[in-house]
Amino acid sequence: MNKINKQSKTKTPKVLRESKFSPLSIEIIKKLNKSGFQAYLVGGCVRDLLAGIKPKDFDVSTNATPEEVRKIFRSSRIIGKRFRLVHVFSRNELIEVSTFRANISRDENTSEVLKDSEGKILRDNVWGTLEEDCIRRDFSINALYFDPLQNLLYDFHNGLHHIQKKLLVSIGDPQLRFEEDPVRSLRAIRFSSKLNFKISNDVKKAIYEKGHLLGNISNARMFDEFCKIFLTKHAIDNFKKLNSFGVIKYLINSETYNEHSFGLKLQHAALINTDNRLKASKSVTPGFLIAALLWPRLIDVSKENGGLNLRKFFRSMDRTIREQQVLTAVPRKFHGYIKDIWSLQLKLETRLGHQPYKILNHPRFRAAYDFLLLREEASEDTQGIGNWWTHFQKVNRPAKIELLKKLRESRNGPVEKKFGFLKELS
Ligand code: ATP
Ligand code: MG
Repeated sequence: MNKINKQSKTKTPKVLRESKFSPLSIEIIKKLNKSGFQAYLVGGCVRDLLAGIKPKDFDVSTNATPEEVRKIFRSSRIIGKRFRLVHVFSRNELIEVSTFRANISRDENTSEVLKDSEGKILRDNVWGTLEEDCIRRDFSINALYFDPLQNLLYDFHNGLHHIQKKLLVSIGDPQLRFEEDPVRSLRAIRFSSKLNFKISNDVKKAIYEKGHLLGNISNARMFDEFCKIFLTKHAIDNFKKLNSFGVIKYLINSETYNEHSFGLKLQHAALINTDNRLKASKSVTPGFLIAALLWPRLIDVSKENGGLNLRKFFRSMDRTIREQQVLTAVPRKFHGYIKDIWSLQLKLETRLGHQPYKILNHPRFRAAYDFLLLREEASEDTQGIGNWWTHFQKVNRPAKIELLKKLRESRNGPVEKKFGFLKELS
């Protein structure tokens, strides 16, 4: 736990003084000041700039209530129930403006603050002062407030010092803070990967001891966190850390596979692939990653179902997705995508009759083919199907006919009913 820093106003580091902030956030702060309110840049943007990273977005914190903010900005909307705040937008920007909150004691319950029997905050809408707002933030590095008009940095919890030391420190006792909101344990892991910071020992202990409370978090919130963890360039680091803290099971419906197993190799390959694509500014979709992370589970379920035929395989797919839904609310639009990728794996393997031509025109062919290559990358027993498809795509029509003819001849009899991938985990 860190001590409160009485000398809260700190000399502003050069990097902040010289940073270019989003124009809309500066305009919002000016207007709020003009209406007599305090307003600061806060959280991730101040932290990231000080840590030498480009901020993802700019959040503003103020002592104006959401209704007061709403009145000042024509293009704005009040959102959220558990945590009410205002979205202020321009044509190309959106800024979250949140009102200072007061932290509340463990057993206090009012209509604006509600906690459950385990201390989890269900609603957090009691307004407070800047100092109070600071205390209810999760980590010292996230509790820095910057006034870009006066060039003043407010640092009540030694956040600046912790950024310099590259250390993630909880504000208050992490055991209590994680009871209030178990998602903070995932955030600790996420920030340590993103910033390459060490997690302080008391926070580590709290993740081990309070991690199980993640089981009570809504699947919608867990899906949001899933995306932040796995789709922001640090997926593989996060996965390994989540695994070692024993909390990966709250995000992914999968066994913990051993180091040399196909299951873990495939999951690692998919996570590294996702990070690399993002680093190369290529698009990623949660659908593809989920399909890969759950593939080992799908194979297990298929085996349990004795799934050597198509009907059973489809049932296994539904069950695998249903089980994942309990953990994270994967939006429905991704379900079809995930199932397409999975079911195309069968077709890419069997290549019956004229099917290969149809498959090439399938809207999910590219994703399914990439998925096949990942499976082969992770598998010790590759059957060269990936290569076959790489070739088949490239060549002209007569060569395609030739390839299919050769394939028929090489089989020399009925196609094996057993799908190759069912061997993957055995
Ligand atoms: P990033 O946007 O890079 O994920 P961030 O720190 O901006 O990081 P947000 O989720 O955008 O994270 O939250 C903004 C700020 O709100 C945080 O910096 C932190 O001060 C506070 N905050 C967010 N979630 C929590 C939480 N669960 N408990 C306490 N404080 C929180
Ligand atoms: Mg943010």
